[in-house]
Amino acid sequence: MATQPPEKRSTWPLTSSMEHWVEWRAQTISDPVKRLRYLRQAHRYPSPQSAWTRRAGTFFLLLIPALWIVPAHESWVATRKLVLSQESIVSNSLKALEFRSQQESPMPEVWLVERKHGEEVYSNGLRIETGATVRHMRRSYASISLQTGKLRTDGVYPAGIVYHTTESHIAVFEAANNLRLQRVGQWVLQYLTRNRSYHYFVDRFGRVHRAVGEEDSADHAGSSIWADRERVYLGLNHSFLGVALEGQTEPGDGPALFLTGAQIHSTRVLTEMLRSRYKITSGNCITHAQVSVNRSNFRIGNHTDWASNFPFQRIGLPDNYNLPIPGMILYGFGYDQDFVLATGERLRIGLSVSENQVRLAASASGISVASYRAKLREEFRRRLAELPASEDPSVTAATARKTEFVPDFARSFENGPEGREKN
Ligand SMILES: [Zn+2]
Repeated sequence: MATQPPEKRSTWPLTSSMEHWVEWRAQTISDPVKRLRYLRQAHRYPSPQSAWTRRAGTFFLLLIPALWIVPAHESWVATRKLVLSQESIVSNSLKALEFRSQQESPMPEVWLVERKHGEEVYSNGLRIETGATVRHMRRSYASISLQTGKLRTDGVYPAGIVYHTTESHIAVFEAANNLRLQRVGQWVLQYLTRNRSYHYFVDRFGRVHRAVGEEDSADHAGSSIWADRERVYLGLNHSFLGVALEGQTEPGDGPALFLTGAQIHSTRVLTEMLRSRYKITSGNCITHAQVSVNRSNFRIGNHTDWASNFPFQRIGLPDNYNLPIPGMILYGFGYDQDFVLATGERLRIGLSVSENQVRLAASASGISVASYRAKLREEFRRRLAELPASEDPSVTAATARKTEFVPDFARSFENGPEGREKN
């Protein structure tokens, strides 16, 4: 069992009082659409001038009244022929990610009460069944520091949680289906432990099974990208814990019909325990659809589980669907119409925010959006080449969009005698 990691800083280092004020002001706007509108108007990117002119601009700003000098300075910059270095482009992309103003939810405090005979009991009521737990590769990962841009290879503790659905067979949740519900849940557990698919599996009765030990990696999000206020993570098998809920993603923003009250409760107390144990910020608790990428065509959303409907608030988290997508902002990934159809309105806010940030950063860099994206993709390839071989998220890169899995044994129940089937 891993020990408590050091506490993380939760704030981004601000570079000016104006940015501080803009971010503070954005945090006071609860409606995400209004917040986006405000940020569109208020946010400023670093001007694409040289280091010398930046220093000169700062000097004059200190000496001469701002109302006079700022328009003149910006006008001068606009008339220059812009030749940006790759370093400046990357700097602008980091700036584009910086504006995030998501409220953090409080860090829970949960402790282990008792461990015995294949189960663990925690102070918030969480019970984990550990009888099926298997080992995999020991967790060890690299990440990119947002402050220095350098590769850090000190990753030992989980930095976040990725939520999945198993996309397995779903029977109607009623007493007449009890036997079938139990059997399917057991088969799914066997399948995903054999494949080291996730760390945790929450079945439809709300039972929490530890499938792969927390100190190990699981093969749940190989080709993926996420970032918090300190680090960028490429390939989340080692850096993030995978939690799979038994069920199938449904389109639209209504509540997911397969989800049971027991699953929601258990996912909530499991999330509280993991956040407490590893000091995981709430912004690092996100769904597979938000992090999944296809490197062969530079599109996000290679996996679409929980592209909509994830009950963030009911499990004690902010609505993280409106967070910007780091793959788009930092590395020039796009998305296609199929992904839009798979998402709900809430995730579309995240897409819209990210697209807008890319447009603004391209404009601040003085080049077209297409050229800007091409530069970011160049940066992504460079970063990928830096990663140690064990971190290379090679899984699924060249495959088409796909679901998690649908075991054949579960299909055999589809027209079974025990009851009706949903869908
Ligand atoms: Zn998934």
